[in-house]
Amino acid sequence: QSFARIQDVESKVRAFLTLDEENARAAAQQLDEQLATGGAASPLFGLPIGIKDNMVTEGLTTTCASKFLSNYNPIYDATVVSKLKAAQTITIGKLNMDEFAMGGSNENSAFHPSHNPWNTEYVPGGSSGGSAAAVAAGEVYFALGSDTGGSIRQPAAYCGIVGLKPTYGLVSRYGLVAFASSLDQIGPLTKNVEDSAYLLQAIAGHDPKDSTSAKVDIPDYLKALTGDIKGLRIGVPQEYMGKGVDPAVKEKVLEALKVLESLGATWEEVTLPHSEYAVAAYYLLASSEASSNLARFDGIRYGVRSDNARNLLDVYNMSRSEGFGPEVKRRIMLGTYALSSGYYDAYYLKAQKVRTLIKQDFEQVFEKYDIIIGPTAPTPAFKIGEQSGDPLTMYLNDILTIPVSLAGIPAISVPCGFVGGLPVGLQMIGKALDEATLLRVAHAFE
Ligand code: GLN
Repeated sequence: QSFARIQDVESKVRAFLTLDEENARAAAQQLDEQLATGGAASPLFGLPIGIKDNMVTEGLTTTCASKFLSNYNPIYDATVVSKLKAAQTITIGKLNMDEFAMGGSNENSAFHPSHNPWNTEYVPGGSSGGSAAAVAAGEVYFALGSDTGGSIRQPAAYCGIVGLKPTYGLVSRYGLVAFASSLDQIGPLTKNVEDSAYLLQAIAGHDPKDSTSAKVDIPDYLKALTGDIKGLRIGVPQEYMGKGVDPAVKEKVLEALKVLESLGATWEEVTLPHSEYAVAAYYLLASSEASSNLARFDGIRYGVRSDNARNLLDVYNMSRSEGFGPEVKRRIMLGTYALSSGYYDAYYLKAQKVRTLIKQDFEQVFEKYDIIIGPTAPTPAFKIGEQSGDPLTMYLNDILTIPVSLAGIPAISVPCGFVGGLPVGLQMIGKALDEATLLRVAHAFE
């Protein structure tokens, strides 16, 4: 069924980098046999899924949408991939993204951009754009994405689906190719909130292979979907509804708040005063971490080595200049600069301090409110090519998702209507490790 749909729409959506039909069919047959011989079926039994191409899959090419890794065939599965196999899902293939998850439109993929299924002239968002497009187009039942500064929530908003970024540390990062290790988090992209709860249940939990993985008990997320949000106190940050946010998007958010009020919730305006510094702090911190993480791509250990190299220095220089795309190079340079001695205190350290202030902003609001709500992105999706020449404008699209990433707290984007024929996302932000409340409110709203 999944492959029939892919046959119909993939030439327009272009969500996949690798399709794995043979193994998927074999896995499906094996599951059928298990069932026929009395084996038990999990809630996710037999469902076709897609994996963002920055999570390693044993024997299945994992490129991070980079030329550098175009020949990389991992010898192990990421923890999330093993967990989904254990939950009896079937991996259909690997999904497109911005190279090394750096970007917000999928246009930074070294191979091809993906298209928004609602209007194929528009971007699906990014960096998990392939994941969002594949789910929205019905090519897979659900997908995994990763979110460093908004890369699950923003594409979910642009494609009209549900995207959940869990609390930092709730889902293992083992086998996720690192972009900015203190921010990266894997999460579900699904058609509805119930599926999101099922998928989170399957992938959350402590993993000894990830030293930042949280040692916490995982609640029953399905049980949280009670439909009851009476008495819920919502905070709406004035910074998320101000200048720079499309008035039509704001209108949709206000309509959504009315729906939540009709279900028994109340809302008030709140303030997150350090939000305006979030984008600057993020691009310093994320680029710094990226410059250190990407040092392992040297033409020796992984991926492609330049054919033109004649000595060791050439191997590094040429493999990197041929293997990385322009956005990745920009971030490596920015990060190396920020970390260099003499600049460290002025940039990296200062950004770390801003990060703490942003975290405290959220903690203060959560003393009085159960949940924070605002738009996921300032506008609906933009046209392919419209912003690709202008990295700064592109960076500003993340203004509403980045603060949450810096604070390490969970947030979910749920569809809340259309503007100009394109979907708009409502962002719900929760307390650390309180995914249950987020899912409950999102489910009641949907
Ligand atoms: N768009 C942001 C960036 O380019 C976020 C990316 C992400 O979350 N992976 O860094």
